[in-house]
Amino acid sequence: MNKLLNFFYPPRCQLCGSAHNLSFDGQLCADCKIDCRLNKAACRLCAAPLDALTGTLEAQSSICGQCIKAPPVYDVCWSPFIYAQPLEWMIQQLKFNAKLNFISLLSNLMAGQLPQIYRELKPDVIIPMPLHNRRLRQRGFNQSYLLIKPVAKVLNIPIDLNSCKRVLDTDHQTGKNARQRKLNIKHAFEFINKNNYRHVVIFDDVVTTGASVSELSKVLKKNGVKRVDVWCLARAKK
Ligand SMILES: [Zn+2]
Ligand SMILES: [Zn+2]
Repeated sequence: MNKLLNFFYPPRCQLCGSAHNLSFDGQLCADCKIDCRLNKAACRLCAAPLDALTGTLEAQSSICGQCIKAPPVYDVCWSPFIYAQPLEWMIQQLKFNAKLNFISLLSNLMAGQLPQIYRELKPDVIIPMPLHNRRLRQRGFNQSYLLIKPVAKVLNIPIDLNSCKRVLDTDHQTGKNARQRKLNIKHAFEFINKNNYRHVVIFDDVVTTGASVSELSKVLKKNGVKRVDVWCLARAKK
C-alpha cells in the first residue's frame, strides 16, 4: 500500500518541494537539511551561539560573557540548532498555525544530534515546558511535549506532565528584553517533587534569553532536584 502511495504521490521535501535526496522519512531534502544551522560553537553552559572566529576570550574559554559574570541556575543547556531560518519558520508554523506535520521532522532532526552522554547518563525524567491552561486550550497542544515525546521514547526516559504547573498566565515573552522577560515569568511555575527526582531535563522548543528555563530550574532546585539540564531544539543568538 505504501509503495503504491509513494508511486502516485512521491514524498517531497516539506520546505522546498524537491523529490530528490530526501531523508527523515522523506520529509526534508539534503540541501534544506544543511540550511538548518547546527549550533557548533556554543557556550558550554548556556548553549548561546558564540562567534567562533572572533578569537575573543569568550570563544577561547567557550563560556559566554554572561555565564562568566553569572553562571546559569541550571547545570547545562544542550541546543543542537541555532534559531534561524528555515528552522525558525518551521517552528512558528507548528506553534502558531498548528502545522503538526512538522513535529516528526523537527524531533527527528533533534534526535539525530543527541549527544552520546544522554544515552549513558540518563536523567530521571523529562519535563516539557508547561503552558498555562488558557494557552493550552487556545493552541490545543503543547508543542514542547509533542516535540520531545519521540526523543524520550528512543532514550526510554519518562515524561512528566503532572508534577509541574504553570500557575501564572503570563504575557508572551516575544518583544520583551531580558529584564522584562525575567520579571514577566517570575513565580509562574509550581512544582511538587512527589517522585523525588534528582536529575531532571527541562525541554523547551526555543530558548531565547533563558528567562523561562531559569525560573523553572530555580523552582526545581528549591524542591530537591540536584541536577537540571535544559534541552531545546534551537537557541537564539543573544
Ligand atoms: Zn528541500
Ligand atoms: Zn553562556
